[in-house]
Amino acid sequence: MIYLDHNSSTPLRPTALSAMIPFLEGQTGNPASVHGFGRTARQGLDNARRQVGQFFGVHESLVCFTSGATEANNMAIFGVAGMQDKPGHVITSRVEHPSVLESFRSLERQGHRVTLLDVDDCGRVDPGTLEKSLDEDTFLVSIMHANNETGVIQPIEIIGDICRRRGLCFHTDAAQSMGRIPWNRERMVADLVSISAHKMGGPKGVGGLVMDRSLALKALLVGGGQERGRRAGTENLPGIVGMGAVAQWLTDHQQEEIDAMARLRDHMETELVHGVPGLVVFSQKAPRLPNTSMVGMDGIHGETLVMNLDLAGFAVSSGAACASGKGEGSHVLTAMGVRPSLAMSAVRISVGWNTGMLELERFIQQFVHIVARLRGDASPVGR
Ligand code: PMP
Repeated sequence: MIYLDHNSSTPLRPTALSAMIPFLEGQTGNPASVHGFGRTARQGLDNARRQVGQFFGVHESLVCFTSGATEANNMAIFGVAGMQDKPGHVITSRVEHPSVLESFRSLERQGHRVTLLDVDDCGRVDPGTLEKSLDEDTFLVSIMHANNETGVIQPIEIIGDICRRRGLCFHTDAAQSMGRIPWNRERMVADLVSISAHKMGGPKGVGGLVMDRSLALKALLVGGGQERGRRAGTENLPGIVGMGAVAQWLTDHQQEEIDAMARLRDHMETELVHGVPGLVVFSQKAPRLPNTSMVGMDGIHGETLVMNLDLAGFAVSSGAACASGKGEGSHVLTAMGVRPSLAMSAVRISVGWNTGMLELERFIQQFVHIVARLRGDASPVGR
C-alpha cells in the first residue's frame, strides 16, 4: 500500500518513536509529583516544551500542550472570547477547518457577531477585505496558515500586521503548515498558533497552542492547574515528548525536506496534467504547501476514484474527506466557486517525509490508467 494522504495524518517519524519509547516503557511518574519518577517525567515535559518553543522562537512558557489542533483551535477562540466582558465581533474565513468554523458558530449562538470572509477562486483571503470588515467591536481574527484540502497559504504576515496595528488578537491554525513552510523564528506572525503533532510525523492525540505573548485565556479545562492553569489534566507525556522530538528535527532539517516534497509534488502534477485530459489542479496559481495537490476532472466521482485507487494499493483522500459522512462536497471548493460537478470529482494527494519517487511514479501510472477506465476511455493520453 502506498500512502499519499499525509495531510490526514503523517506516519510517525523514527526520531519521535525513539524519543517516546522510554516514556512508554519506563516507570515514569506524573510530572506533577515531587519524587524522582515525577522529576524524570517533568524533565521530559520541559525538554519538549523547549523544543517546540525553539522551533517558533518563543519562550517555552508560551507553549501550552493540548490533545491536538482541534482542542488548540477551540482553546484559542473560546479562550479569547472568554476574556471579553461583553459580546463583540469576530472574523474568520469560509475555508477554515471545521474545528474553527464550529467554534465561531458557537460564539455566534452566544451573541457575538461573526464575519465569515469570502475567498478568491484560489481560496485566498484578501487582507484588504479583512481590514474593511474590522470595526470597533472586533476582538479576534482567526485565519488558517495553510488549507488542509488545497494546501493554499494565506497571507498571514499581512493579516498579522493589520491586527497588530489595531491591537487585535490574531489566531492562526498552523496544523498543516508546521514543517511544510519555513517558520520565521525572528517574529511570530500571530498571537496564537495551533499545531498538531500527527500532521508532522509525531503521534496522534497531541498538539499545542503557541503564544506570542502571555494571554490570560479563559481555560476550557479546569482542574489541577497543569500547563500554568491554561489546560488542566495530566499531560500526555509520551505524545508530548514525541512532538518535541519532531519539533527539534524540523528546527534542524526542515528545508531539505520541504525541497524534496516540492520536487515530488511538482513532478506528479506535471505528469497528471499531461496524462489526464482536462485535469485541474485547484489553487495552482496561488502559493501552496509543497506537498499538497487537490485535483479535479470532469466525468469522475472523487469517492469512486479514491476507492478504485485504494483497491489498486494507493491511499489518497477525496476532496470531500473532511465533510465525509455528511454527503456534502468540500466547503473549501464551494467557497472558491468551483462548479459542483468538478468539486465532486476532487481528490487530494499529499506526499510526506517518507514518500519516494519510485512509488510516486507507480501512483501516477495507476491514476492515469484508472481515470481513463472510469471514464470509459480505452486509450489514456501519454500512457
Ligand atoms: N486544523 C487543520 C487545518 C487540520 O487539517 C486539522 C486536521 N484535519 C485540524 C485542525 C485538527 O487537528 P487534530 O487532528 O490535531 O485535532
